[in-house]
Amino acid sequence: QRKPLVVANWKMNGNSDLVQQMSDALSMLKQPLPEILICPPVIFLTHFPKHQNYKLGAQNVSEQQSGAFTGEISADMLTAAGVTHAIIGHSERRSLYGELDGLISQKVKTAVDAGLTPILCIGETLQQREEEKTLEVLARQLDAVYAAQPYLLAHSVVSYEPIWAIGTGRTATPEQAQLVHQFIRQHLAQYDVDAADALRIIYGGSVTATNCQALFAEADIDGALIGGASLKVADFSAICEMA
Ligand code: 13P
Repeated sequence: QRKPLVVANWKMNGNSDLVQQMSDALSMLKQPLPEILICPPVIFLTHFPKHQNYKLGAQNVSEQQSGAFTGEISADMLTAAGVTHAIIGHSERRSLYGELDGLISQKVKTAVDAGLTPILCIGETLQQREEEKTLEVLARQLDAVYAAQPYLLAHSVVSYEPIWAIGTGRTATPEQAQLVHQFIRQHLAQYDVDAADALRIIYGGSVTATNCQALFAEADIDGALIGGASLKVADFSAICEMA
């Protein structure tokens, strides 16, 4: 009953040619399709022609409404540009730009209040996994957002991205990912059983056209957040068709 969601996270990659090629290719895909979301660098968001086959998302959003925040982009600006989603708390934002749980929680609230759907990214490092702290880390990242503001859950997507699987070619096995996704859903049920049941929990980390089907077959894996393979038009289209 949960519609699959396939998200392209271009990160700081791509150009006008890729916008054109990707929009052409996705426009030609035949329904039924999963929900498809493209998150290019923000400057390209308005270059995508409108088409029913895909939606657009930002890779980040400000926690502030407006004002003297040099370099930031507000949720209202994104929605005004036809953007429907925003990735929030990606591990690269957390580790390279110092985003902490408190800021991420504010961003999710600001996004939802402006009508954007946040894609909240959570995930453990290799060291945390080896120390068997994975579930504890994920619970902390989830609670930071939803404990005080459980209403946000019904408006969210959660993406599990184990940091050791991002850009490494080392994907979690479907069984490993399923165990974590099941944990996330059960953990969030304490806040809102129905919202946890309806929540799309997508997987990210070295997803390819070759390994996606086995991931999508798992009960609690509702789609994917794709980095490297989302820059290849044929691969990304193929993944969308398999979801
Ligand atoms: P890769 O698919 O390149 O591993 O990146 C995953 C990711 O971080 C998507 O947000």
